[in-house]
Amino acid sequence: MFHKILIANRGEIAVRIIRTCMYLGIETVAIYSEADKESLHVQLADDSVCVGGARSDESYLNMENIITAAINKGAEAIHPGFGFLSENADFAKLCETCGITFIGPKSESIRKMGDKSAARKLMIASGVPVIPGSEGVIDTLEQAERVANEIGFPVLIKASAGGGGRGMRIAHDNNGLAKAFETAKTEASKAFGDGSLYLEKYLINPKHIEFQVLCDKYGNAVHLRERDCSIQRRNQKVVEEAPSLLNTELLTKMADTAIKICQIVNYENAGTIEFLVSGNDYYFIEMNTRIQVEHPTTEMITGKDLIKEQIKIASGEKLSFNQNNLIFSGHSVECRINAENPKNDFLPCPGKVKLLHFPSGNGIRFDSFLYTDYDIVPYYDSMIGKLIVHGENREEAIKRMRSALEELVIEGIDTNQTFLYMIMIDPDYAKGNFNTSFIEKKLETLLGYKDYE
Ligand code: ADP
Ligand code: ADP
Ligand code: MG
Repeated sequence: MFHKILIANRGEIAVRIIRTCMYLGIETVAIYSEADKESLHVQLADDSVCVGGARSDESYLNMENIITAAINKGAEAIHPGFGFLSENADFAKLCETCGITFIGPKSESIRKMGDKSAARKLMIASGVPVIPGSEGVIDTLEQAERVANEIGFPVLIKASAGGGGRGMRIAHDNNGLAKAFETAKTEASKAFGDGSLYLEKYLINPKHIEFQVLCDKYGNAVHLRERDCSIQRRNQKVVEEAPSLLNTELLTKMADTAIKICQIVNYENAGTIEFLVSGNDYYFIEMNTRIQVEHPTTEMITGKDLIKEQIKIASGEKLSFNQNNLIFSGHSVECRINAENPKNDFLPCPGKVKLLHFPSGNGIRFDSFLYTDYDIVPYYDSMIGKLIVHGENREEAIKRMRSALEELVIEGIDTNQTFLYMIMIDPDYAKGNFNTSFIEKKLETLLGYKDYE
């Protein structure tokens, strides 16, 4: 087991990782940008290093400074969290070269799966169902037109390097396609430094269902069931739950496919296989080769600590359980709390937290880096916390989330707290009657709450 780990991230996930390290008796080194001196992860870690300026490319994406910090502090391993360098094959490779364990898969697996169009091509070759579309990257508009006319509109142009719901454009006809192709290319180049695109048929009202997997270095692979992440805004998840309401027959097929995919890429550590489901058909969309934002919902229904499992796998331990002795219990829901104003087009609203009170008690968990008087900085993601609940069944979990959201107090900044509450009291949500267009379709109702001063 490791003695010291450097956490190459910030915010709630850095705090989350430090907590598991504390419990395992592993020393922690935090990294931080010049803007994050006051951040909770820096205060909780045993040691910390400033790795650069406020901008991510100067600090949390600064591979050289991060590796140097790990070497200087004697950290044997780096946990990358999510976002930032977590799916960067070059960074994983650099760790390998420097003799530092990257807590995640091998760099080759990231390379195979991180490029979404290459992953898609590999899945087609392996007989995994994918959404009809291009085989690999689309280089020209003519090529895009050919594929689109073959499979039929609407189509979705997607960035090979995409993530976080960005770099996607819908086209309904040939005219729209030309525009979508150009804007997606520009957006992808800017956001990911890589303008490669591919194309899929745009599915109407699918569900987003993903499987959590864990694989050790000895070829043992298990799945920890699925999460439904269909409640999204602009292709980004807002509310997640585990398990889903899909039928067992379909779920069994999907689980088998998820395990097969792990074997195809020789996967190691924690990962997520994302699918879209339409009726009784399911399609692979991508694999996230890292821990995910919504991992606590899986922890709630399995009792497993996924960060602990990641660390154990990376240190060379065998999985201590197999598929048959995993126990799944109850239902879990997660709400992403963002510093934003839903009524002003969800504009991010950083600022000083004047008062923080969060709910706790049976089946309630609040993963966050906030504290009273903390000044949220504007440079990074607007997610400031995650409220996660567990109940004996879905109905109980939803009720618990309602009361938890009622109790949560974050004063001084605008948040999406009431917007989330509106989702929780929506009758269709309660009935399980939803898909990825839920928020878009119900936006007016969900925004129809009164503001209280
Ligand atoms: P999850 O499935 O874990 O919810 P998300 O797509 O929401 O994954 O991404 C998790 C975090 O990582 C978000 O903060 C998101 O903005 C960021 N992220 C994901 N992919 C990328 C990427 N390619 N480039 C930059 N940030 C990314
Ligand atoms: P990211 O890398 O940004 O997470 P994904 O490929 O995982 O991108 O897609 C994110 C979301 O975008 C999906 O959960 C879904 O809501 C929507 N989406 C992606 N591909 C399609 C598609 N072909 N048809 C309809 N919706 C899609
Ligand atoms: Mg995704």
